[in-house]
Amino acid sequence: MAGIEIITIGDELVEGRLVDTNATTLSERLLVEGLTVARHTSVGDDRQEIVAGLREAAGRRRVVLVSGGLGPTSDDITAECAAEAFGVSLVRSPEALAHVQQFFASRGREMSPNNEKQADLPAGAVILPNPRGTAVGFRLSTDGCELYFMPGVPRELIAMFEEEVLPDLRTFLVGAPRRVAQLKVFGLGESDVARKLEGFDGELPGDARLTVQYRATFPEIHVRLVLEGVDDHRAEELLEALSAEAQGRLSKSVFATGGTRVETSFPDQVVAELRSAGLRVAAIDGATGGVLGRLVSKTQDSADVFLGGIAAPYPRILGSVIGVATESVDIDEEGIGDLAQQMAAAVRDRFRADLGVAVLGAPAPEVRPFEGSLTVAVATRTDRALRQYNFPIEGDRFRVLAAYVALGQVRRAIRSAALRESQ
Ligand code: ATP
Ligand code: MG
Repeated sequence: MAGIEIITIGDELVEGRLVDTNATTLSERLLVEGLTVARHTSVGDDRQEIVAGLREAAGRRRVVLVSGGLGPTSDDITAECAAEAFGVSLVRSPEALAHVQQFFASRGREMSPNNEKQADLPAGAVILPNPRGTAVGFRLSTDGCELYFMPGVPRELIAMFEEEVLPDLRTFLVGAPRRVAQLKVFGLGESDVARKLEGFDGELPGDARLTVQYRATFPEIHVRLVLEGVDDHRAEELLEALSAEAQGRLSKSVFATGGTRVETSFPDQVVAELRSAGLRVAAIDGATGGVLGRLVSKTQDSADVFLGGIAAPYPRILGSVIGVATESVDIDEEGIGDLAQQMAAAVRDRFRADLGVAVLGAPAPEVRPFEGSLTVAVATRTDRALRQYNFPIEGDRFRVLAAYVALGQVRRAIRSAALRESQ
């Protein structure tokens, strides 16, 4: 019996109401450890399915990791099912009971009788402490297989995995450790990225193996460098050198780097750069339907650097709101460029910002005559920049891309020496 299998339990999972992040988080963590997961299985809160799932997995694997169903409610039946699956009785564990009681006492809360159920574990189970919740986890050894039962709540599961399960796995499983470096890219297509990275790893020493993985989360491209077969301290150095080489080749398109997890998105990065430069921006949004504003305030509070914007699909309406005359302007390529520049300056003024950005255009073929054309103007106290593009794509993809491109121009402006001098 070989390999690791993950079983996640819960009706929400099989009914499609919950994305199974527990399985992906565990797999991602194990991969770095050099341990690959052979299979993910999800089962609902159904006795027969859980019992069968546990038996089958234990019959074919060395290790089974189980998530969910350790709570006090009637649909939490994992411990009972484990006992049934392996033909042992369910016994009340004084240690687990003490944990539940203490958990409530330490929070000054009354324990409901339901919670006593959480102390009923299969005979022979070894408790895995859970300082963050009421449910203890447990390990069960069957013929040839170790099963680890963890709570479904992600933060409890992850902590228990790191603190209890992983150290235990390391005592009997030997992985081929992998190190991961990540680069996040915006401004190049996936195939351009791949072409630029061709042969960037040169000659790797000894048994070192590098895998380059690409993932497109439009319009960002995430590149993962996975290094295997090198011992620990040399691996770090080598991966750093490889990541630096890759960054050099992709140059300004790389906006964030790090290890296995890099949470920063491109809008986050632009917000961070505005903040560290002490610059505030305001926007005229005639192209993204508010996506620009949503992206910059999605993962963090950006009110200190994004002062706001005005969004409307028609340039003439935007003009009248912001006090830019549009009556005599032909809304053609040249006219729109001029208008965008005036609007960027006007919105900068009106919001008393350091930077004004105006983005005009519309997805193909929604609002004629723009049809995929995009105009971005940025105004600072001393500078004006104008870019025009054609992106013949539709709907929300256009809007998201337009917002990214506008932020890309804001980023250029942050970096321009002229702006720094004007401060
Ligand atoms: P509790 O004591 O909270 O009832 P539990 O061990 O019984 O914990 P579940 O009831 O299965 O766990 O899940 C609790 C919550 O954890 C779910 O409502 C869900 O929000 C989250 N959760 C459970 N399983 C997963 C999963 N596989 N991926 C992501 N989140 C999950
Ligand atoms: Mg529950």
